[in-house]
Amino acid sequence: MIKYVVKPLPKVKVKLVSWEEIVDWAWNLAKIIKKDGYKPDVIVALARGGYVPGRLLCDFLDVENLLSIQSQHWTEAAKAEERAIIKFPYKVDLSNYTVLVVDDIVDTGDTLKLARDYVAEHWNPKQLKTAALQWISPVAKFKPDYYYIEVTDWTWFQYPWTRLEDTYQFIKRIVTETYKETGKKEWTYEEMVETFKEWYGIDVGDRYYKDALEILIEKKILEYNEETKKYIYIAG
Ligand code: ADP
Repeated sequence: MIKYVVKPLPKVKVKLVSWEEIVDWAWNLAKIIKKDGYKPDVIVALARGGYVPGRLLCDFLDVENLLSIQSQHWTEAAKAEERAIIKFPYKVDLSNYTVLVVDDIVDTGDTLKLARDYVAEHWNPKQLKTAALQWISPVAKFKPDYYYIEVTDWTWFQYPWTRLEDTYQFIKRIVTETYKETGKKEWTYEEMVETFKEWYGIDVGDRYYKDALEILIEKKILEYNEETKKYIYIAG
């Protein structure tokens, strides 16, 4: 227990997802799609979260064609931005192709719905369906045609492909919130790691903590004092 942590803020439920779980989830999702008789000629991976699931589905469903579209909604781990947009719009003719748009998770549903509508309108596919590894049913405004896991209790899934990004954003939140609550500015590495584990209930390992701290120094959110061996939050 660390005495200066007044309360574990913000209370966000986090689950660390391993590469093995991702392969297993994608494998099971492929089975569901296959069982339904849907045979996509083209997979459209929704950037960035749909890349790994999309690539695995290409393998498990024997799909050669992989395209991508970037739809953006969330810019910070576990914090929603205003709305979803198609970042780099472009056109292709998919009138002879059966298409599957793939994402990692359907949370609000905004980004996948936007991408689905964009592909339907501008790429003219013969047939179009959507798939995601996970679907957060109580909050999603959009249900994908295929999903493997239905999440009923909102959770932040710490996927292996956002581990460093999530880690530095979580650490940033720890230092800013703790400063607001207690005025604390200086952290040892050990305190930082202990607090991270306590707040988020996961352990991403030294490699990620160290790189995340480096990024926060580069971003001028933290400073490292060689003499005291402490990280200092640069407030404001
Ligand atoms: P959608 O609901 O269509 O997936 P969102 O805007 O809710 O669109 O989410 C966009 C992206 O943000 C997701 O594809 C995923 O990469 C990331 N994301 C959103 N919610 C979560 C979550 N609960 N856990 C992990 N990543 C998430």
